[in-house]
Amino acid sequence: MQKGQRNKGELGRLLDSVGLNKKQLVCPLFVKDHAKEGCKIASMPDVSVVPLEETTTQILELINLGISSIIVFGVPSERDSVGSNASDQNGIVQKTVRKLKMEFGDALNIITDVCLCHYNLSGHCGLLGRQNELIDNDSTVRALCEVAVTHAQAGADVVSPSSMMDGQVSSIRTSLDEHGYDNIKILSVSAKHFSSLYSPFRSLAFSEQIRDYKSLDKSSYQVPYTNRGESVREIENDIREGADMVIVKPAILYLDVISMIKEQLRFPIAAQNVSGEYAMIKSAAANNWINEEEWKVTSICAMKRAGADIIISYFCKDIAAILNC
Ligand SMILES: [Zn+2]
Repeated sequence: MQKGQRNKGELGRLLDSVGLNKKQLVCPLFVKDHAKEGCKIASMPDVSVVPLEETTTQILELINLGISSIIVFGVPSERDSVGSNASDQNGIVQKTVRKLKMEFGDALNIITDVCLCHYNLSGHCGLLGRQNELIDNDSTVRALCEVAVTHAQAGADVVSPSSMMDGQVSSIRTSLDEHGYDNIKILSVSAKHFSSLYSPFRSLAFSEQIRDYKSLDKSSYQVPYTNRGESVREIENDIREGADMVIVKPAILYLDVISMIKEQLRFPIAAQNVSGEYAMIKSAAANNWINEEEWKVTSICAMKRAGADIIISYFCKDIAAILNC
């Protein structure tokens, strides 16, 4: 340890002092079918896509660290034009949820990502319209409802729609209720800002099947980063539609939005610390340009200070390891 650096005990006490505890941490889990071994990615050191069979080991590690919530992203081996694998009862997310619920029951809170971008050939979060250009909002929402219901049937505790389609929250709420899942909560990705900070995640989830994934432009349905009012409107809409919690992503660049929502609306809010935020800290630390431990803690403290009730982060395990409660 260099002079002037804090040790892990001191950093843990700083996290305690902003009111963070392990129950507020949500760890992303990427799961893949038919993988011989976990797939690693250069821009996200220490993060892998986990084969279904290895998920038990991963969850045991989290539970031993005191983390009890995960958000599951599926990385299916095949895509098609309508993302049909997303709502397949034997899709990768559905199989993962069934397996983990059987093994861990209520000890594990399972949130599932509800979107189509990992399942369709375009890589967009919605289905393409007839001209193969614009996203067709209504057919996408219908597909998302089917996905959410199959996740609930598999045993998910919370579904997290992330495609930013209009009306997705109210439609999913209605579908879940109609199928008898009125107890399933909706954690809506309400303010997903257009950003290059999702790139490492896309190279992890998209690169094998979508050659030009780097040029994907989702600006027509994601929130612009120049207009805080629009971020707030999106969140207010989702609350009106029945969201139980909302997500703002990325996290560090949108602390003003988190803070404003917390102060004005007093609604449960999650900060999603995305792959690019993770990659920036990891790469700078690997070059010895910053102190990784201090920066991780600084950024997580900032999200908590801004008002986040829940933090979704690739740093969860590191943070849990130094938190006292
Ligand atoms: Zn998506």
